[in-house]
Amino acid sequence: METVVSGIRPTGKLHIGNYFGAVANFLKMQYEYNCYFFIADIHSLTTHPTPADLHNSVRQVLAENIAVGLDIDKCTLFIQSDVPEIPELYTYLNMNAYKGELERAASFKEKVRSNPDNVNAGLLTYPVLMATDILIHKAHKVPVGKDQEQHLEMTRTFGNRFNRLYNVEYFPEAQAFSYSDKLVKVPGLTGVGKMSKSGGDADAIFLADDEAVNTKKIMRAKTDAGPTQPNQKKPDEVQNLFDLMKLVSAMDVIENFDSAYNNCSIRYGDMKKQLAYDMEVFLKPIREKIADALKNETVLAQAAKLGAEKARESASKTLKEVREIIGFRKFY
Ligand code: AMP
Repeated sequence: METVVSGIRPTGKLHIGNYFGAVANFLKMQYEYNCYFFIADIHSLTTHPTPADLHNSVRQVLAENIAVGLDIDKCTLFIQSDVPEIPELYTYLNMNAYKGELERAASFKEKVRSNPDNVNAGLLTYPVLMATDILIHKAHKVPVGKDQEQHLEMTRTFGNRFNRLYNVEYFPEAQAFSYSDKLVKVPGLTGVGKMSKSGGDADAIFLADDEAVNTKKIMRAKTDAGPTQPNQKKPDEVQNLFDLMKLVSAMDVIENFDSAYNNCSIRYGDMKKQLAYDMEVFLKPIREKIADALKNETVLAQAAKLGAEKARESASKTLKEVREIIGFRKFY
């Protein structure tokens, strides 16, 4: 069975963009691959979260991933900082990662531009840590978006460089993979671009939020004044509502609103009410499971412990072999 590694940023609550764009794939993948999903809390230190914020975000993300259906007996769901082998391998790989190539990474240049006051060494060596996350489990496949393709290329560079330096065929070349042919892009409620946390509070529908909050956001979503001619092309903000409906509503419901749009009789208020209703039908059981998981410290502790044990089993095997290859041989 091929090994897949994917990181989850501990940035707090998951929204339905994360769910349909990423988590839904994890739910299928866990039965078809040897999956390591990790909460990337070491990565998040580049932005200096407070200890309380860091802990709460990790806790929330752990609870949510269990609640949505990651099966901790099937996959390995772990917290990055629970695996000390990761920072150790990162140290070794850093010795063969060069300043020039790290400075050329597009995401580093972007970060330097957007945040010139916080250009820390961790940011520069972010691709080395990402390579470590992948190489430590000798992963074959990594589900990455366009923005991470360069980092994956660097992972192959670092792995191959290690192999060449020590004249071994040790690390495999991890390939990018998109699980389904059509990548789901969930639009936001504010009419522009994809749903994201950075789009402001009105843009995203969070799995953990209650019905009133979500309904209010949907009812306030941007629309236009309505179609004036039959079969008119839908403006982006209206198309977005239809796209959101496609995620949670029945086909015939969507077709009815589509016909109403095309014959200019659509009432956006009714459409939004329907969307809010169908969204709630979808979200209610998930929200209840999230609340249960967050209340149950034992479940979270057991999940984190099991994940750490399984991840360390794989990571320590790699590290033992790497130490041997490098020449760290015990004198005692
Ligand atoms: P982020 O926390 O923004 O890094 O996103 C985590 C995962 O969710 C990534 O795999 C993203 O590609 C995915 N994702 C985030 N927002 C959306 C969206 N609006 N539509 C589809 N996928 C998304």
